[in-house]
Amino acid sequence: MQWETVIGLEIHTQLATQSKIFSGAPTAFGAEPNTQACAIDLGLPGVLPVLNAEAVRLAVRFGRAIEAEIASRSVFARKNYFYPDLPKGYQISQYERPIVGRGKVEIVLDDGTIKRIGVTRAHLEEDAGKSLHDPGLVGDGQTGVDLNRAGTPLLEIVSEPDLRSPQEAVAYARKVHQLVRYIGISDGNMQEGSFRMDANVSIRPPGQEELGTRTEIKNLNSFRYLEKAIQFEVERQVELIESGGTLVQETRLYDAVKDETRGMRSKEEANDYRYFPDPDLLPLEIDAEFLATATSDLPELPDAKRERFHAEYGLSEYDASLLTTSRELADYFEAVARETGEPKLAANWIGGELMAALNKAEIEIGQSQVTARMLAGLIKRLQDGTISGKIAKQVFESMWSGEGDADQVIRSKGLEQITDSGAIEAMIDAIIAANPGQVEQYRAGKQKVFGFFVGQVMKASRGKANPQQVNEILERKLRA
Ligand code: ADP
Ligand code: MG
Repeated sequence: MQWETVIGLEIHTQLATQSKIFSGAPTAFGAEPNTQACAIDLGLPGVLPVLNAEAVRLAVRFGRAIEAEIASRSVFARKNYFYPDLPKGYQISQYERPIVGRGKVEIVLDDGTIKRIGVTRAHLEEDAGKSLHDPGLVGDGQTGVDLNRAGTPLLEIVSEPDLRSPQEAVAYARKVHQLVRYIGISDGNMQEGSFRMDANVSIRPPGQEELGTRTEIKNLNSFRYLEKAIQFEVERQVELIESGGTLVQETRLYDAVKDETRGMRSKEEANDYRYFPDPDLLPLEIDAEFLATATSDLPELPDAKRERFHAEYGLSEYDASLLTTSRELADYFEAVARETGEPKLAANWIGGELMAALNKAEIEIGQSQVTARMLAGLIKRLQDGTISGKIAKQVFESMWSGEGDADQVIRSKGLEQITDSGAIEAMIDAIIAANPGQVEQYRAGKQKVFGFFVGQVMKASRGKANPQQVNEILERKLRA
């Protein structure tokens, strides 16, 4: 039997504010437990929350970036539940009236077509604290509570159930991740929990309008886990239904070690949370001026940049999309392209050598030892014939290991290309004289031996002979 997969994602992204959403305590990651939680974050009696305008500004930027309606009036509500990392007994969130309404995000499918994914809403809320089980931090078998994270601003971005495969879900999540980083509202650091995903998954017979019963897999913090968790969950649901079982709506956890999802608790209904407007906070009103200031400096967004790179620099769709993955990478590319006037070469070097080196070192473009200016310098020496393509790779490696810019490396290592045809001829004469057997084979029609001679000349010149000249002179001399 055939089944259609239906997925909707809820993404929690921490907003890059200095202080918490309702208090002045800092939000920096990695401090000693409970050193960054003030009376408000602890939920002590008698305190009052004060909304952080910066969190609102960042949410508004997101709304604009996904072309959503931004509510001129939104309301904070209390979502009541009991958990040790939530000392107040409720989370301040937005419920019926979120700040960001319907919007859209476009993803590119494997076959190159563009699919529009609906965003239902995005709302502001506070993060909870963390339970610590690490025996190095708390006693064996004990659990500690760290409230540093409590009150960190979150934007929860809820998608429509428009996604039809684990791959589409990943493409969408990556797109949202790219977007929040582009517009500078979140560092998107997944290891530190700045970007966490919940996947709602159901299946239905193709053609059926009505949605199937869904399960929600909580707290996925990598794209790979997102994909694997959904894959597992779809298979589990298919097997269960096909063997005559009934799905229950529930919350599940993904276990990366066993690569499976496990039931955690039956799904709570909204009314279990007894939502009601928070009497401590006024409705949030946003006027035209705030909106204009918050969004006036939005950068060029990834889709627009990708299309421009394609049109303006003649890059392939693949390169355009690769080089716009992040703003930093795109800026780097544009700097190299402008300085050299060689966008395609710039794209090849960045997509090839540079990315390989970055991936190997597991660092981001911003930390690259080889700056845009240095890569441009290398490409110029390649263009003006000072060095050959092969030597250029060697120069790149030297720049990467901190030996200076291209000109310094070329000079100190004596890597200038040999273009003096007299010198190349002398080398070739010597090689021909030393290899009479191969000369005979070549003249007898064994074309392959040509490569042997090229190799010998390159070896003799330590890779520096101009390849084109080598070919020409070799051909002439061997024919003679
Ligand atoms: P809740 O807030 O209780 O989790 P929502 O109705 O807000 O529920 O939906 C949350 C997410 O689940 C949304 O992303 C939505 O698209 C998705 N969703 C809802 N129903 C289904 C379904 N049957 N199958 C897959 N995803 C679903
Ligand atoms: Mg949910």
